[in-house]
Amino acid sequence: MICPFCRNDDSRVIDSRPVEEGTQIRRRRECPECGQRFSTQEVALLNIIKRSGATEPFSREKVLVGVRKACQGRPVDEDDLVLLAQRVEEALRGTGQAEIEAHDVGMAILAPLRELDEVAYLRYASVYRNFASLEDFEGEIALLRALPSNASSNSSTPSSASKRTESSVKN
Ligand SMILES: [Zn+2]
Repeated sequence: MICPFCRNDDSRVIDSRPVEEGTQIRRRRECPECGQRFSTQEVALLNIIKRSGATEPFSREKVLVGVRKACQGRPVDEDDLVLLAQRVEEALRGTGQAEIEAHDVGMAILAPLRELDEVAYLRYASVYRNFASLEDFEGEIALLRALPSNASSNSSTPSSASKRTESSVKN
């Protein structure tokens, strides 16, 4: 790390400590050339590329805002949402990439949201997967019925036999 005072191309770490609950590391450094001290901070990068092309740091809060909206009126509590946002962040970081498309963040929310609440999932999926018609909802609902679900009651419905129109899904 270059010394910001004399531009010497080396500096010595004299202290390191975790900050922000260990998600960042702050280092105190000293320049062996001019003796000045300065601090640096190390953060694991996770930037979101927005549709406009601009990037911004990943925000759990933004994930929370999105899923909270989808879960309005549903029997889901705040702890569930916090946990979901944490799982989403872990999944995104797990890709090992420093930059992720905003759309992929939306997609990463889908699986844990489906486990949490199927109605909230449908609301969210209708936006992020651009549901354009009732058929899109029907297809997704058929898929949900076919999936083994730990949330809803264990129905023994054959996966393809029952095809009903869900008229209760509105915006
Ligand atoms: Zn220096």
